[in-house]
Amino acid sequence: MRKRVLPAALAVLALLSFSAGAALTGDPETAAPEGSPLPAEAVTGPAAAPPAVVTLLDVDGLKVSQSTSRVAVDGLQVAPEGYCINQENYYKLRDLAYLLSGKKSAFDVIWDDQLSCISMLSGKDYTVAGGEMLPSGSASIYKFVPSYSAVRLNGEPVQMTGYNINNNNYYRIRDVAPLVGFGIDWDKDTYTVVIDSKTEETPQPSVPDVTPPAAQMPPTTPETPQEPDLPDSDIRIPVVTPEDQLPTDILFGPSDKEDPEAPGEPEEPVYPWIGPCIDGELTILLDPGHGGSDAGSSNPVTGQAENRTNLTVAKYLKEMLEEEGVRVIMTRSSTSTNLRGTDRKARVREICEEGELDLVLSIHHNGSTKHTARGSELFVQPAGLSPHAGQDGKVDSSVTSQALGKRLLNSYLSMGLGLTSRGVKETNSYYMVYTSGQYGIPAVLSEFCFIDNADDVKLIDSDDDLKAEAKAIFDALMGLYETTPY
Ligand SMILES: [Zn+2]
Repeated sequence: MRKRVLPAALAVLALLSFSAGAALTGDPETAAPEGSPLPAEAVTGPAAAPPAVVTLLDVDGLKVSQSTSRVAVDGLQVAPEGYCINQENYYKLRDLAYLLSGKKSAFDVIWDDQLSCISMLSGKDYTVAGGEMLPSGSASIYKFVPSYSAVRLNGEPVQMTGYNINNNNYYRIRDVAPLVGFGIDWDKDTYTVVIDSKTEETPQPSVPDVTPPAAQMPPTTPETPQEPDLPDSDIRIPVVTPEDQLPTDILFGPSDKEDPEAPGEPEEPVYPWIGPCIDGELTILLDPGHGGSDAGSSNPVTGQAENRTNLTVAKYLKEMLEEEGVRVIMTRSSTSTNLRGTDRKARVREICEEGELDLVLSIHHNGSTKHTARGSELFVQPAGLSPHAGQDGKVDSSVTSQALGKRLLNSYLSMGLGLTSRGVKETNSYYMVYTSGQYGIPAVLSEFCFIDNADDVKLIDSDDDLKAEAKAIFDALMGLYETTPY
Protein backbone atom coordinates (compact mmCIF):
# COMPACT_ATOMS: atom_id res chain seq x y z
CA MET A 1 0.00 0.00 0.00
CA ARG A 2 2.65 2.45 0.93
CA LYS A 3 4.86 3.48 -1.86
CA ARG A 4 8.24 4.94 -1.36
CA VAL A 5 10.23 7.63 -2.99
CA LEU A 6 12.23 6.01 -5.73
CA PRO A 7 15.87 6.20 -5.01
CA ALA A 8 18.34 6.15 -7.82
CA ALA A 9 20.72 3.96 -5.96
CA LEU A 10 23.46 5.75 -4.20
CA ALA A 11 24.33 8.15 -6.94
CA VAL A 12 23.24 11.12 -4.96
CA LEU A 13 26.42 10.94 -3.05
CA ALA A 14 28.17 11.89 -6.23
CA LEU A 15 26.76 15.35 -6.33
CA LEU A 16 29.73 17.21 -5.30
CA SER A 17 32.75 18.55 -6.93
CA PHE A 18 35.45 16.48 -8.46
CA SER A 19 38.93 17.48 -7.68
CA ALA A 20 41.07 14.42 -7.39
CA GLY A 21 42.14 13.92 -10.96
CA ALA A 22 45.40 12.31 -10.10
CA ALA A 23 46.71 9.95 -12.68
CA LEU A 24 46.81 6.29 -11.94
CA THR A 25 50.20 5.09 -11.09
CA GLY A 26 51.61 1.72 -10.36
CA ASP A 27 51.17 -1.47 -12.26
CA PRO A 28 47.80 -2.72 -13.37
CA GLU A 29 47.71 -5.33 -10.65
CA THR A 30 47.82 -2.79 -7.94
CA ALA A 31 46.17 0.14 -9.59
CA ALA A 32 42.74 1.18 -8.53
CA PRO A 33 39.71 -0.15 -10.36
CA GLU A 34 39.19 1.11 -13.83
CA GLY A 35 37.85 4.57 -14.14
CA SER A 36 39.08 5.43 -10.73
CA PRO A 37 39.97 9.00 -10.05
CA LEU A 38 42.04 7.98 -7.13
CA PRO A 39 45.75 7.81 -7.04
CA ALA A 40 47.10 4.44 -6.13
CA GLU A 41 50.57 4.70 -4.83
CA ALA A 42 52.53 2.67 -2.41
CA VAL A 43 52.67 3.97 1.08
CA THR A 44 56.20 5.01 1.50
CA GLY A 45 58.07 6.08 4.51
CA PRO A 46 56.86 7.48 7.73
CA ALA A 47 54.96 10.70 7.76
CA ALA A 48 57.13 13.52 8.91
CA ALA A 49 54.75 14.53 11.61
CA PRO A 50 51.21 13.81 12.65
CA PRO A 51 48.98 15.66 10.23
CA ALA A 52 47.35 18.74 11.65
CA VAL A 53 43.80 18.18 12.77
CA VAL A 54 41.25 20.96 12.46
CA THR A 55 38.18 20.46 14.56
CA LEU A 56 35.18 21.31 12.42
CA LEU A 57 32.51 20.58 14.95
CA ASP A 58 32.44 20.12 18.68
CA VAL A 59 28.94 19.32 19.84
CA ASP A 60 27.30 17.01 22.31
CA GLY A 61 30.61 15.52 23.30
CA LEU A 62 31.55 14.77 19.71
CA LYS A 63 34.63 16.25 18.14
CA VAL A 64 34.57 16.04 14.38
CA SER A 65 37.37 16.74 11.96
CA GLN A 66 38.23 15.79 8.44
CA SER A 67 40.20 12.60 8.72
CA THR A 68 43.86 13.22 8.14
CA SER A 69 44.76 9.56 8.39
CA ARG A 70 46.29 7.94 5.41
CA VAL A 71 44.49 4.90 4.16
CA ALA A 72 46.17 1.97 2.49
CA VAL A 73 44.52 -1.01 0.90
CA ASP A 74 46.91 -3.93 0.59
CA GLY A 75 49.83 -1.57 0.81
CA LEU A 76 48.61 0.97 -1.70
CA GLN A 77 47.72 4.39 -0.54
CA VAL A 78 44.23 5.51 -1.40
CA ALA A 79 42.27 8.58 -0.51
CA PRO A 80 38.69 8.04 0.49
CA GLU A 81 37.12 11.05 2.09
CA GLY A 82 36.65 10.44 5.75
CA TYR A 83 35.88 12.07 9.03
CA CYS A 84 37.43 11.58 12.37
CA ILE A 85 34.85 11.56 15.12
CA ASN A 86 36.10 11.21 18.65
CA GLN A 87 39.29 9.63 17.40
CA GLU A 88 37.62 7.14 15.13
CA ASN A 89 37.69 7.14 11.37
CA TYR A 90 34.50 7.09 9.35
CA TYR A 91 34.17 6.52 5.62
CA LYS A 92 31.46 6.13 3.02
CA LEU A 93 30.41 2.56 2.41
CA ARG A 94 30.53 3.13 -1.30
CA ASP A 95 34.12 4.26 -1.19
CA LEU A 96 35.14 1.26 0.87
CA ALA A 97 33.27 -1.05 -1.48
CA TYR A 98 34.92 0.62 -4.42
CA LEU A 99 38.36 0.18 -2.95
CA LEU A 100 37.79 -3.49 -2.22
CA SER A 101 36.18 -4.32 -5.54
CA GLY A 102 37.83 -7.28 -7.22
CA LYS A 103 39.42 -8.37 -3.98
CA LYS A 104 38.66 -11.18 -1.65
CA SER A 105 36.60 -9.05 0.67
CA ALA A 106 34.72 -7.32 -2.13
CA PHE A 107 31.23 -6.21 -1.36
CA ASP A 108 28.52 -4.36 -3.18
CA VAL A 109 26.38 -1.58 -1.84
CA ILE A 110 23.01 -0.81 -3.28
CA TRP A 111 19.83 0.79 -2.17
CA ASP A 112 17.14 -1.80 -1.66
CA ASP A 113 13.98 -0.07 -2.64
CA GLN A 114 11.73 -2.82 -1.47
CA LEU A 115 13.19 -2.95 2.00
CA SER A 116 14.08 0.73 2.04
CA CYS A 117 17.53 0.09 3.30
CA ILE A 118 21.15 0.18 2.32
CA SER A 119 21.96 -3.32 1.22
CA MET A 120 25.51 -4.67 1.43
CA LEU A 121 26.24 -7.88 -0.40
CA SER A 122 29.46 -9.64 0.41
CA GLY A 123 31.47 -11.57 -2.13
CA LYS A 124 30.27 -9.36 -4.94
CA ASP A 125 32.21 -6.75 -6.81
CA TYR A 126 31.03 -3.24 -6.30
CA THR A 127 28.53 -1.84 -8.77
CA VAL A 128 29.94 1.53 -9.70
CA ALA A 129 27.31 4.20 -9.44
CA GLY A 130 29.55 7.16 -10.17
CA GLY A 131 31.01 9.63 -7.78
CA GLU A 132 33.04 7.21 -5.74
CA MET A 133 36.07 8.61 -3.99
CA LEU A 134 35.11 12.17 -4.68
CA PRO A 135 35.60 14.72 -1.97
CA SER A 136 32.45 16.41 -0.81
CA GLY A 137 33.79 19.79 -1.77
CA SER A 138 32.74 21.35 1.49
CA ALA A 139 35.25 22.63 3.95
CA SER A 140 32.71 23.08 6.67
CA ILE A 141 30.05 20.94 8.25
CA TYR A 142 26.57 22.30 7.81
CA LYS A 143 24.75 19.14 8.68
CA PHE A 144 25.69 16.52 11.23
CA VAL A 145 23.18 14.00 12.45
CA PRO A 146 23.34 10.33 13.33
CA SER A 147 22.70 8.19 10.33
CA TYR A 148 19.48 6.39 10.80
CA SER A 149 19.65 4.46 7.57
CA ALA A 150 18.81 0.84 8.00
CA VAL A 151 21.61 -1.31 6.68
CA ARG A 152 21.51 -4.98 5.77
CA LEU A 153 24.32 -7.32 4.95
CA ASN A 154 23.26 -10.22 2.76
CA GLY A 155 19.71 -9.55 3.83
CA GLU A 156 20.35 -9.51 7.56
CA PRO A 157 20.04 -6.26 9.51
CA VAL A 158 23.38 -5.06 10.81
CA GLN A 159 24.33 -2.23 13.07
CA MET A 160 27.12 0.18 12.49
CA THR A 161 27.80 3.54 13.96
CA GLY A 162 27.33 6.12 11.28
CA TYR A 163 26.77 9.80 10.82
CA ASN A 164 25.18 11.80 8.10
CA ILE A 165 27.57 14.63 7.44
CA ASN A 166 26.60 17.20 4.83
CA ASN A 167 24.16 14.65 3.46
CA ASN A 168 26.55 11.77 3.03
CA ASN A 169 26.61 8.78 5.33
CA TYR A 170 29.91 7.87 6.91
CA TYR A 171 30.34 4.66 8.85
CA ARG A 172 32.90 3.73 11.45
CA ILE A 173 35.43 1.64 9.63
CA ARG A 174 35.95 -0.40 12.75
CA ASP A 175 32.34 -1.53 12.42
CA VAL A 176 32.47 -2.18 8.70
CA ALA A 177 35.61 -4.32 8.72
CA PRO A 178 34.37 -7.31 10.71
CA LEU A 179 31.07 -7.32 8.87
CA VAL A 180 32.62 -7.37 5.45
CA GLY A 181 35.63 -9.39 6.42
CA PHE A 182 38.58 -7.18 5.70
CA GLY A 183 41.38 -6.68 8.14
CA ILE A 184 42.09 -3.34 9.67
CA ASP A 185 45.05 -2.09 11.58
CA TRP A 186 46.75 1.13 12.42
CA ASP A 187 50.26 2.02 11.44
CA LYS A 188 51.36 4.59 13.93
CA ASP A 189 54.52 5.44 12.05
CA THR A 190 52.78 6.47 8.88
CA TYR A 191 49.46 7.48 10.42
CA THR A 192 47.81 5.00 8.19
CA VAL A 193 44.64 3.02 8.46
CA VAL A 194 45.83 -0.27 7.06
CA ILE A 195 43.22 -2.27 5.24
CA ASP A 196 44.00 -5.87 4.40
CA SER A 197 41.58 -7.13 1.82
CA LYS A 198 42.81 -10.69 1.97
CA THR A 199 41.98 -11.42 5.52
CA GLU A 200 39.78 -14.40 5.97
CA GLU A 201 36.46 -13.66 7.45
CA THR A 202 37.04 -11.76 10.59
CA PRO A 203 34.35 -12.59 13.05
CA GLN A 204 35.25 -9.98 15.64
CA PRO A 205 36.69 -6.51 15.46
CA SER A 206 40.36 -6.95 15.98
CA VAL A 207 42.24 -5.00 18.54
CA PRO A 208 45.25 -3.23 17.17
CA ASP A 209 48.43 -4.00 18.98
CA VAL A 210 49.64 -0.47 18.97
CA THR A 211 48.17 2.54 20.62
CA PRO A 212 46.99 4.97 18.03
CA PRO A 213 47.79 8.62 18.30
CA ALA A 214 44.91 10.72 19.40
CA ALA A 215 42.44 11.84 16.82
CA GLN A 216 43.48 9.24 14.37
CA MET A 217 42.60 5.75 15.27
CA PRO A 218 39.45 3.87 15.88
CA PRO A 219 39.35 2.94 19.52
CA THR A 220 40.35 -0.51 20.50
CA THR A 221 37.11 -1.17 22.22
CA PRO A 222 34.18 -0.96 19.91
CA GLU A 223 31.46 1.10 21.43
CA THR A 224 27.89 0.09 21.30
CA PRO A 225 26.79 1.28 17.92
CA GLN A 226 24.00 3.75 17.85
CA GLU A 227 21.06 1.88 16.59
CA PRO A 228 20.70 2.68 12.95
CA ASP A 229 17.07 1.80 13.08
CA LEU A 230 15.80 4.73 11.13
CA PRO A 231 16.26 4.88 7.43
CA ASP A 232 17.66 8.17 6.35
CA SER A 233 16.50 9.36 3.07
CA ASP A 234 19.99 10.34 2.18
CA ILE A 235 20.16 7.96 -0.66
CA ARG A 236 16.78 8.65 -2.01
CA ILE A 237 17.05 10.66 -5.08
CA PRO A 238 14.85 13.31 -6.47
CA VAL A 239 14.04 12.93 -10.08
CA VAL A 240 14.06 16.40 -11.49
CA THR A 241 15.60 18.86 -9.12
CA PRO A 242 18.93 20.34 -10.20
CA GLU A 243 21.56 19.09 -7.87
CA ASP A 244 22.29 22.36 -6.22
CA GLN A 245 18.64 22.61 -5.39
CA LEU A 246 18.21 19.32 -3.65
CA PRO A 247 16.29 20.05 -0.51
CA THR A 248 18.21 18.17 2.07
CA ASP A 249 15.71 18.50 4.81
CA ILE A 250 13.37 16.45 2.76
CA LEU A 251 15.34 14.32 0.45
CA PHE A 252 18.28 13.58 2.61
CA GLY A 253 16.34 13.06 5.56
CA PRO A 254 16.24 14.24 9.04
CA SER A 255 15.46 11.28 11.14
CA ASP A 256 12.08 12.44 12.17
CA LYS A 257 10.61 12.33 8.74
CA GLU A 258 11.54 8.85 7.85
CA ASP A 259 9.96 5.56 8.46
CA PRO A 260 11.77 4.24 11.48
CA GLU A 261 10.57 0.71 11.17
CA ALA A 262 13.10 -1.87 10.35
CA PRO A 263 12.84 -2.59 6.69
CA GLY A 264 11.81 -6.02 5.69
CA GLU A 265 9.37 -6.42 8.47
CA PRO A 266 6.08 -7.88 7.48
CA GLU A 267 3.53 -5.60 5.92
CA GLU A 268 2.31 -3.04 8.31
CA PRO A 269 -0.87 -4.03 10.01
CA VAL A 270 -4.10 -2.41 9.00
CA TYR A 271 -4.68 0.22 11.63
CA PRO A 272 -8.15 0.82 12.95
CA TRP A 273 -10.09 3.71 11.56
CA ILE A 274 -10.07 6.54 13.99
CA GLY A 275 -10.46 9.61 11.81
CA PRO A 276 -10.83 13.18 12.98
CA CYS A 277 -12.76 13.39 16.21
CA ILE A 278 -15.93 15.29 15.47
CA ASP A 279 -16.71 16.48 18.97
CA GLY A 280 -16.70 20.24 18.55
CA GLU A 281 -13.19 20.55 19.95
CA LEU A 282 -10.40 21.07 17.46
CA THR A 283 -7.40 19.05 18.65
CA ILE A 284 -4.11 19.46 16.83
CA LEU A 285 -0.83 17.67 17.31
CA LEU A 286 2.00 20.10 16.61
CA ASP A 287 5.29 18.49 15.80
CA PRO A 288 8.33 20.76 15.80
CA GLY A 289 10.74 18.71 13.70
CA HIS A 290 14.06 17.39 15.03
CA GLY A 291 15.26 18.24 18.55
CA GLY A 292 18.00 17.33 20.95
CA SER A 293 21.09 16.02 19.23
CA ASP A 294 19.30 16.20 15.89
CA ALA A 295 19.52 19.88 15.03
CA GLY A 296 18.02 19.41 11.58
CA SER A 297 19.13 21.69 8.78
CA SER A 298 21.09 24.74 9.73
CA ASN A 299 22.51 27.88 8.23
CA PRO A 300 26.22 27.57 7.53
CA VAL A 301 26.84 31.24 8.24
CA THR A 302 24.56 32.13 11.11
CA GLY A 303 24.31 28.70 12.63
CA GLN A 304 20.56 29.02 13.02
CA ALA A 305 19.18 25.49 13.15
CA GLU A 306 15.81 23.85 12.77
CA ASN A 307 15.66 22.49 16.28
CA ARG A 308 15.00 25.84 17.95
CA THR A 309 13.42 27.52 14.92
CA ASN A 310 10.81 24.81 14.48
CA LEU A 311 10.06 24.81 18.18
CA THR A 312 9.71 28.57 18.39
CA VAL A 313 7.22 28.66 15.54
CA ALA A 314 5.29 25.81 17.13
CA LYS A 315 5.17 27.59 20.48
CA TYR A 316 3.86 30.82 18.97
CA LEU A 317 1.32 28.85 17.01
CA LYS A 318 0.26 26.95 20.11
CA GLU A 319 -0.41 30.23 21.92
CA MET A 320 -2.48 31.58 19.06
CA LEU A 321 -4.46 28.38 18.72
CA GLU A 322 -5.13 28.03 22.42
CA GLU A 323 -6.44 31.57 22.54
CA GLU A 324 -9.03 30.42 20.05
CA GLY A 325 -9.95 27.43 22.17
CA VAL A 326 -8.04 24.90 20.12
CA ARG A 327 -6.52 22.04 22.06
CA VAL A 328 -2.84 21.66 21.20
CA ILE A 329 -0.63 18.68 21.89
CA MET A 330 3.10 18.97 21.23
CA THR A 331 5.49 16.18 20.32
CA ARG A 332 8.20 18.13 22.11
CA SER A 333 8.37 21.36 24.11
CA SER A 334 12.10 21.70 24.57
CA THR A 335 15.13 22.04 22.33
CA SER A 336 16.86 19.36 24.35
CA THR A 337 14.23 16.72 23.76
CA ASN A 338 15.63 13.88 21.73
CA LEU A 339 12.85 12.31 19.74
CA ARG A 340 14.23 9.61 17.59
CA GLY A 341 12.12 8.51 14.69
CA THR A 342 10.84 5.44 16.44
CA ASP A 343 9.89 7.45 19.49
CA ARG A 344 8.23 10.14 17.46
CA LYS A 345 6.26 7.69 15.44
CA ALA A 346 5.19 5.82 18.56
CA ARG A 347 4.08 9.11 20.06
CA VAL A 348 2.00 9.95 17.00
CA ARG A 349 0.37 6.54 17.08
CA GLU A 350 -0.33 6.84 20.77
CA ILE A 351 -1.97 10.22 20.33
CA CYS A 352 -3.90 9.10 17.27
CA GLU A 353 -5.17 6.10 19.18
CA GLU A 354 -6.40 8.30 22.01
CA GLY A 355 -9.04 9.13 19.46
CA GLU A 356 -9.38 12.86 20.03
CA LEU A 357 -7.13 14.16 17.32
CA ASP A 358 -8.21 16.14 14.27
CA LEU A 359 -4.89 17.00 12.67
CA VAL A 360 -1.14 16.46 12.76
CA LEU A 361 1.06 19.36 11.70
CA SER A 362 4.81 18.94 11.44
CA ILE A 363 6.88 22.12 11.31
CA HIS A 364 10.21 22.14 9.50
CA HIS A 365 12.58 24.49 7.70
CA ASN A 366 14.40 23.21 4.71
CA GLY A 367 18.03 22.90 3.67
CA SER A 368 19.69 22.14 0.35
CA THR A 369 22.93 20.66 -0.82
CA LYS A 370 24.46 23.91 -1.97
CA HIS A 371 22.38 26.29 0.08
CA THR A 372 20.92 27.81 -3.08
CA ALA A 373 17.40 26.40 -2.98
CA ARG A 374 14.64 28.68 -1.73
CA GLY A 375 10.95 28.72 -1.15
CA SER A 376 8.03 27.05 0.55
CA GLU A 377 7.10 23.43 0.22
CA LEU A 378 4.27 21.46 1.79
CA PHE A 379 4.00 17.71 2.11
CA VAL A 380 0.56 16.22 2.22
CA GLN A 381 -1.12 12.85 2.28
CA PRO A 382 -2.01 10.93 -0.84
CA ALA A 383 -5.40 9.27 -0.96
CA GLY A 384 -5.79 5.80 0.41
CA LEU A 385 -3.45 5.72 3.39
CA SER A 386 -6.22 4.14 5.37
CA PRO A 387 -7.95 1.22 3.70
CA HIS A 388 -11.11 2.21 5.56
CA ALA A 389 -11.30 5.58 3.84
CA GLY A 390 -14.21 5.99 1.51
CA GLN A 391 -16.26 3.29 3.19
CA ASP A 392 -19.32 4.05 5.26
CA GLY A 393 -18.93 7.76 4.76
CA LYS A 394 -15.40 7.81 6.13
CA VAL A 395 -13.66 10.74 4.50
CA ASP A 396 -10.17 10.13 3.20
CA SER A 397 -7.73 12.12 5.31
CA SER A 398 -5.96 13.29 2.16
CA VAL A 399 -8.86 15.61 1.42
CA THR A 400 -8.22 17.75 4.47
CA SER A 401 -4.48 17.25 4.25
CA GLN A 402 -4.32 18.55 0.71
CA ALA A 403 -6.71 21.38 1.38
CA LEU A 404 -4.55 22.50 4.28
CA GLY A 405 -1.38 22.14 2.23
CA LYS A 406 -2.77 24.52 -0.36
CA ARG A 407 -4.00 26.94 2.26
CA LEU A 408 -0.62 26.96 3.97
CA LEU A 409 1.19 27.59 0.72
CA ASN A 410 -1.15 30.44 -0.18
CA SER A 411 -0.80 31.86 3.28
CA TYR A 412 2.99 31.81 3.07
CA LEU A 413 3.06 33.31 -0.40
CA SER A 414 0.73 36.11 0.59
CA MET A 415 2.87 37.23 3.51
CA GLY A 416 4.63 39.69 1.22
CA LEU A 417 8.03 38.16 1.90
CA GLY A 418 8.70 37.20 -1.67
CA LEU A 419 8.67 33.51 -0.83
CA THR A 420 8.67 31.32 -3.90
CA SER A 421 6.48 28.26 -4.25
CA ARG A 422 7.90 24.80 -4.49
CA GLY A 423 4.46 23.39 -4.36
CA VAL A 424 2.24 21.05 -2.41
CA LYS A 425 3.53 17.51 -2.72
CA GLU A 426 2.10 14.16 -1.80
CA THR A 427 4.36 11.92 0.19
CA ASN A 428 4.23 8.31 1.17
CA SER A 429 7.61 8.44 2.81
CA TYR A 430 7.43 10.84 5.69
CA TYR A 431 5.98 9.05 8.59
CA MET A 432 4.75 12.14 10.37
CA VAL A 433 2.45 12.44 7.39
CA TYR A 434 1.47 8.89 6.61
CA THR A 435 1.34 7.42 10.11
CA SER A 436 -1.66 9.49 11.07
CA GLY A 437 -3.17 8.86 7.66
CA GLN A 438 -3.23 5.16 8.43
CA TYR A 439 -5.78 6.01 11.11
CA GLY A 440 -7.62 8.37 8.82
CA ILE A 441 -6.27 11.49 10.49
CA PRO A 442 -5.08 14.33 8.23
CA ALA A 443 -1.49 15.55 8.43
CA VAL A 444 0.74 18.10 6.73
CA LEU A 445 4.48 18.68 6.93
CA SER A 446 5.46 22.28 6.37
CA GLU A 447 8.77 23.57 5.04
CA PHE A 448 8.29 27.31 5.30
CA CYS A 449 11.61 28.24 3.68
CA PHE A 450 15.25 27.19 3.45
CA ILE A 451 17.02 27.88 6.69
CA ASP A 452 20.41 27.30 5.08
CA ASN A 453 19.87 29.84 2.32
CA ALA A 454 21.34 33.30 2.81
CA ASP A 455 18.18 35.04 1.62
CA ASP A 456 15.53 32.72 2.97
CA VAL A 457 17.02 32.66 6.44
CA LYS A 458 16.39 36.40 6.73
CA LEU A 459 12.70 35.57 6.73
CA ILE A 460 13.03 33.56 9.92
CA ASP A 461 15.91 35.11 11.81
CA SER A 462 13.97 37.07 14.39
CA ASP A 463 11.22 36.33 16.87
CA ASP A 464 8.91 38.61 14.93
CA ASP A 465 9.59 36.61 11.78
CA LEU A 466 8.80 33.36 13.52
CA LYS A 467 5.66 34.85 14.99
CA ALA A 468 4.65 35.94 11.51
CA GLU A 469 5.19 32.44 10.22
CA ALA A 470 3.12 31.05 13.08
CA LYS A 471 0.39 33.56 12.26
CA ALA A 472 0.39 32.48 8.62
CA ILE A 473 -0.08 28.88 9.71
CA PHE A 474 -2.73 29.94 12.20
CA ASP A 475 -4.65 31.82 9.51
CA ALA A 476 -4.56 28.84 7.19
CA LEU A 477 -5.80 26.54 9.95
CA MET A 478 -8.60 28.84 11.01
CA GLY A 479 -9.67 29.27 7.41
CA LEU A 480 -9.75 25.54 6.85
CA TYR A 481 -11.71 24.73 9.98
CA GLU A 482 -14.36 27.30 9.18
CA THR A 483 -15.72 24.73 6.79
CA THR A 484 -14.16 21.47 7.94
CA PRO A 485 -15.92 19.61 10.74
CA TYR A 486 -13.93 18.87 13.88
ZN1 LIG B 1 13.53 19.43 9.15
